[in-house]
Amino acid sequence: MAELTDPALAAAVDAVYETGTGLDEAGVLAVLRLPDEQVPAALDAAHRVRMRWCGPAVEVEGIVSVKTGGCPEDCHFCSQSGLFTSPVRAVWLEIPALVEAARQTAATGATEFCIVAAVRGPDERLMAQVRAGVAAIREAVDINIAASLGMLSLEQVDELAAIGVHRYNHNLETARSFFPSVVTTHTWQERFDTLRMVRDSGMEVCCGGILGLGEKLEQRAEFATQLAELDPDEVPLNFLNPRPGTPLAAAPIVDGRDALRAIAAFRLALPRTVLRYAGGREITLGDLGTRDGLLGGVNAVIVGNYLTTLGRAPADDLALLDELKMPVKALSATL
Ligand code: SF4
Repeated sequence: MAELTDPALAAAVDAVYETGTGLDEAGVLAVLRLPDEQVPAALDAAHRVRMRWCGPAVEVEGIVSVKTGGCPEDCHFCSQSGLFTSPVRAVWLEIPALVEAARQTAATGATEFCIVAAVRGPDERLMAQVRAGVAAIREAVDINIAASLGMLSLEQVDELAAIGVHRYNHNLETARSFFPSVVTTHTWQERFDTLRMVRDSGMEVCCGGILGLGEKLEQRAEFATQLAELDPDEVPLNFLNPRPGTPLAAAPIVDGRDALRAIAAFRLALPRTVLRYAGGREITLGDLGTRDGLLGGVNAVIVGNYLTTLGRAPADDLALLDELKMPVKALSATL
């Protein structure tokens, strides 16, 4: 097993293992700055921490978009913004298709099914569709239902909790200090306010972001620490997949080793959370990276397609989990 050679960092990581309390911002930054030859040691440490505090099970989730494209917001990384020339058209998905997507997701062994809409926040038409969709899925399919519908009012939070939405996703996306560089139509604080209401409602909080937006390593560390303060149940970690037509279309993709440093660093900042590989892992890390991440702190994957880009085939991911002897988290264990 590879060892960390910096004594102060090694001691800090041992403390994470023993206590389940994450690295502080300086510690996270130290991991993000490790030389290449120390990356395996960081991944080993993150894997040990994950196994100690989360166990070997891996959570598998499918996502479906009920409303794709045409969003009025200007998140510079997002091809679903209606303000850019990205080739993503506004599309609505009807209830039978939604139930079928949930059924197919459950058939892969996944325990979470997330309904996603590209909106600033849900209007009454979308809330009505989600209400009907959640009821239809609960009737027909045995799976936890999550939702990601943008910023919410308190009434909407309460309604989603009441109809049985188990987890709500709303990403802070990046460090508070960097957010205004990539989003100008709303603030980090507005996103945070929704997350606080979700937490208070009793729904699980899913909150992550995207790396590779042009943030500095210091801001990556700041972001990991801000997430740790929120203490989300799940953190989806995306890597920028630059989409044509967006302001970040020409941004460089995250270097594979930097991505692995980030995976280890986020796990060490968040020892107990569900750390999910989300979009962009294929182009940043290739197939091998999936294995490295799962042995470096990641304990959840999205199967199938992402919202605007294609992912790996579910069978590939499930075969890999089998090979790594990481059981898919059972539905009963998540209820
Ligand atoms: S990230 Fe969300 S809020 Fe921002 S443009 Fe995309 S869909 Fe809209």
